[in-house]
Amino acid sequence: MVERTERRDRGDRGDRGYREDRENRSFYRRRVCKFCVEKIPLIDYKDIQTLRGFVSDRGKIIPRRISGTCAKHQRELMTAIKRARNIAFLPFTERG
Ligand SMILES: [Zn+2]
Repeated sequence: MVERTERRDRGDRGDRGYREDRENRSFYRRRVCKFCVEKIPLIDYKDIQTLRGFVSDRGKIIPRRISGTCAKHQRELMTAIKRARNIAFLPFTERG
């Protein structure tokens, strides 16, 4: 048996647990509305690829403070997602 010294926390300065890297978020880093940037006037509910980007892996709509979508587009997005759900493009909830 080889004994290894594990040094996972080098230079521990006392405040562990506050390691939230702002840049490391898997969602949109930029706080700009994607649809405004791309100048999309109306969100197409058939555009599943786009919609999926705004739905969590559990099938929930990502709140706009995270996605950065503006109020206007968030509303359209929600309508689009709900519509897509009704025609079974997107799941209501995904059970893992
Ligand atoms: Zn917008």
